[in-house]
Amino acid sequence: MSMPALDIDKIDKIIDQVLSYAPSADIELIKKAYQVASLAHQGQKRLSGEPFIIHPLETASILTEFKMDVVTIAAAILHDVVEDTTVAISNIKEQFGDEIALLVEGVSKIAWVHQHSKHENKAENLRKMLIATAKDIRVILIKLADRLHNMRTLGYLSPDAQRQTALETLEIYAPLAHRIGMGRIKWELEDLSFSYLYPDLYHEIARMVASKRKEREMYSEKVREILTEEFDKEGISASIISRPKHLYSIYQKMNLRHKSFNEIYDLTGIRIVTDKQVDCYNAMGIVHNKWQSIPGRVKDYISTPKSNMYQSIHTAVIGPDGNPMEVQIRTKDMDVIATEGIAAHWHYKEKTKHDERYDSKFAWLKRLIEWQRELTDPKEFMEGLKQDLFSDEVFIFTPKGQIKILPKGAVPIDYAYSIHSNIGDHCFGAKIGGRMVPLDYKLENGDIVEIITSIKAHPTQSWIRIVRTPKARSKIRNWLKAHEEEQQKEHLQKDIKPKQQEQPSQKPKKTSAGKVMISGITDIAFNLAKCCGPIPGDEIAGYVAKGGITIHRKDCRNLASVASGQSRIVDAAWGDDKTGTYEAGIIVRAFDRNNLLKDMLSTLAATKITINEAWAKVVDKGIAKCGFVVLIRNKEHLAEIMHILEQVKGSIDVYRGRM
Ligand code: MN
Repeated sequence: MSMPALDIDKIDKIIDQVLSYAPSADIELIKKAYQVASLAHQGQKRLSGEPFIIHPLETASILTEFKMDVVTIAAAILHDVVEDTTVAISNIKEQFGDEIALLVEGVSKIAWVHQHSKHENKAENLRKMLIATAKDIRVILIKLADRLHNMRTLGYLSPDAQRQTALETLEIYAPLAHRIGMGRIKWELEDLSFSYLYPDLYHEIARMVASKRKEREMYSEKVREILTEEFDKEGISASIISRPKHLYSIYQKMNLRHKSFNEIYDLTGIRIVTDKQVDCYNAMGIVHNKWQSIPGRVKDYISTPKSNMYQSIHTAVIGPDGNPMEVQIRTKDMDVIATEGIAAHWHYKEKTKHDERYDSKFAWLKRLIEWQRELTDPKEFMEGLKQDLFSDEVFIFTPKGQIKILPKGAVPIDYAYSIHSNIGDHCFGAKIGGRMVPLDYKLENGDIVEIITSIKAHPTQSWIRIVRTPKARSKIRNWLKAHEEEQQKEHLQKDIKPKQQEQPSQKPKKTSAGKVMISGITDIAFNLAKCCGPIPGDEIAGYVAKGGITIHRKDCRNLASVASGQSRIVDAAWGDDKTGTYEAGIIVRAFDRNNLLKDMLSTLAATKITINEAWAKVVDKGIAKCGFVVLIRNKEHLAEIMHILEQVKGSIDVYRGRM
């Protein structure tokens, strides 16, 4: 088979690169992967006009920069074969074995499932990838390299697709890269996403950064001279690097602190990289001697590494000329971890070395997946994942001095559930450093936390709002479900009734529900619950209350919180009457623009659907939420309407729900 010169050149470079860090690597495996992939993708082109095979080769090439092992490189070359060609995963397994097949399958999207929204589909694919990642961390490394190359070549897509991909990258993939410590990939993903999401701001900041380059270089030269002299005196061997901040981090700083570009002085950070750990502390001493340190800005991530294994001392000082200056101090080894993260552990020659830090990192990922596994609703899964990815962490200590990591904002109840669900279920109070604190106390770094339990204590509805971890939340729900009898009366009054009463009042058009079979009997009067708005096609259950029977979706949170499987819940199913109409709430997340709501409304109007409510609000910089309450016939009809809304220009995702 003859190959175009372009990819021959690329595969040769990949092989050379691998041999440079792994001289005895099994190169035949890479060659075989290339043969299979180039044959499978033959004739396929990317939107750039290049042959498709360039993409998997570039993906593999990125991974060689992280000195990844041959198995990962081969899997990267094969990563789109199952998704985009006729080759089946069983084929890959036969030819390359289980290990490579697992990696390839982990990054392949599942086929479009009809009736699932784009949003649900994305959530499912992500969940699948994370589960595969729990089995083999290299899945996520391939996925990130894949995404990085797609982001580098994003310019060929339509503007709408560009922004969709950029947003997803910023919301999911950059934080994932951060979580596994791959700083270099994170920065590039962020800057690329930023340039597509806010091109004007991006170019403005880039222009201003460039205009100050000379000034910045002179400044860092001055700092370097001063420090070099001091380090020489003390016999510290270290290199002093000035690092321009990446554009997205400058933007975040402006945004977060409401500052203009000119008010941000520290565009350059100084990094001191030493040979020995002890010199990190000596260097910090010198920096603080030379310049006034800014209170509260010293962080020692050497003695307490971040959960992504990042180690460094951070400090900020008033540097020469009275400008604030950020300083990072770390050893060479720590510097590699800071840019390559978990990938550093897959460096070819280090592969056999056991590293505890790697295990603890893996534990974090397993914990994340375990939390997420308990969330069955795709929307909840996505939201939970985003929250977990973005949130910082707090490190607390057990009374025995063991360290525990919890998401920022966690309260003692979260900690109690992280020890054991029995401790959580009987959590009565907590002591921090010997002092009693309320259950909604937000844990802080370094807190020594002792949980006080009582046989009489038990979860309450209000705990759900206090806790921060999905694990605690789901355990509390389980407990409440299991003990529903005692709980339901008060909550029924409190939580469901008011919600139902709020809304009938302003209904322009009435629904006419079809028939529902309740415990096998038709012709029983019922109401449709407003909280979950069940429609034909949804699995439903009836809740027997004083005022009659209310039909909820089986997965309704309100239903779950008051009762389940108990005497007040009755079986229900939709009858075969096809004439009913039902209210359904739809929320669309979209890039904000002029006439967004108007376009959505006219799109809906074209379907001749009845619209009872419509609203729009900007929720985040440049992102808006539009909500509609429409009258629909059944779940298929709703799916159709949601699909139409997904096509409106700027639409990011569409899901069921009300404001
Ligand atoms: Mn790909």
